Amino acid sequence: KAVKDKKSSQSGSAQATPLYPAPVSDFNSLAPRYRLSKALLRNIKDNGYSTTTEVQLAALSLLLDTRAHLLAQEQSQDQKQQQQEPVLDVDLLSIAPTGSGKTLAFMIPLIHALVLARRSQTHSGPQAIILAPTKELASQIANEGRKLALNTAIRITNVRKGMHLGSDSSPDADAPEKDVPPVKADILVSTPAALKNAMGDTNTTSHALSQIRFLVLDEADVLLDPLFRDQTLAVWNALSSPSLRLGFWSATMGSNIEELVKATIKDRAERLSETTST
Ligand code: ADP
Ligand code: MG
Repeated sequence: KAVKDKKSSQSGSAQATPLYPAPVSDFNSLAPRYRLSKALLRNIKDNGYSTTTEVQLAALSLLLDTRAHLLAQEQSQDQKQQQQEPVLDVDLLSIAPTGSGKTLAFMIPLIHALVLARRSQTHSGPQAIILAPTKELASQIANEGRKLALNTAIRITNVRKGMHLGSDSSPDADAPEKDVPPVKADILVSTPAALKNAMGDTNTTSHALSQIRFLVLDEADVLLDPLFRDQTLAVWNALSSPSLRLGFWSATMGSNIEELVKATIKDRAERLSETTST
């Protein structure tokens, strides 16, 4: 990851700014550091989680720091300049074995970011997409997410066939899908195929997806393998936000996931710069 090393001070004795925020070994210590909402913290406890697993230990502080920064940036330019904390504005690739708790590691920062966003903004469209290769997995992730989001006002929808993603406030009441109510959610959890299906007509959808700021690929090695790749990219390429943050989660180093991820990001960046320059 490219991390800017801010040489902070002229005084030679100054400590270098740490590149990574300190890891978190238990969920309680997240509260004072990142001001997690009480509801989110309670849900973590109520579900029996107290100490973090290794991947959570590493990923939570990275993502929470990143997202705290993103939100501060949106809130005020002044605040951004004042911010002294080391900040990693990262897309994350996380590789950790099956059963190591990756779901929580991406879900907690996501819910936290959206809770904060809710306090400062009024928009209603979905802001995050989590893709998973199978319906079963997508539904498990949505369930886990809902338990964590209980009483936070963050809505999590498991996208299924027949749903459509027209915007909440869509002015085109004449749309043929008008009999199907649009999905109202902050976080969409889906297989690539179900999401593509729900996207339907691109005009209304690009509006509905214009506020997506987070894309999480769970089992990213599978989602980027030849079987799923085109569908995954179709979803990814429909997201227009220039500040889209990406999370790749995988249980395996197999299929050269790191190369794959880099190549895919580069592809997309080139495509975006082509479309904006023409
Ligand atoms: P992965 O996606 O890495 O395969 P999961 O996110 O599905 O793993 O988690 C596997 C199991 O571990 C789940 O039942 C989950 O509830 C449990 N788990 C996750 N984090 C913790 C934790 N910090 N403490 C105890 N159990 C946990
Ligand atoms: Mg998993």
